[in-house]
Amino acid sequence: MAIPTTHLTEATETPAEPAPPPVTPRSHGYCSWHEGYAWGVRPVREWDEGSGPAQRGLFACPPCRLALDLVPLGDQV
Ligand SMILES: [Zn+2]
Repeated sequence: MAIPTTHLTEATETPAEPAPPPVTPRSHGYCSWHEGYAWGVRPVREWDEGSGPAQRGLFACPPCRLALDLVPLGDQV
């Protein structure tokens, strides 16, 4: 099966930009990175020493996770 290489320029295609994943705003908590409460906070992994808060059990909001490339621990409540 050959796929035609003609580029479709219809308006149905969405621009390929890195959109953040949809976050269900139901986990309200304290973000240790911007020091404030926010929705969608998630527990994140311990960060590098000296580069930021190096404590266990820290929570980060989606914007901070995206900006600092933080890795959430999971969907644990
Ligand atoms: Zn934050």
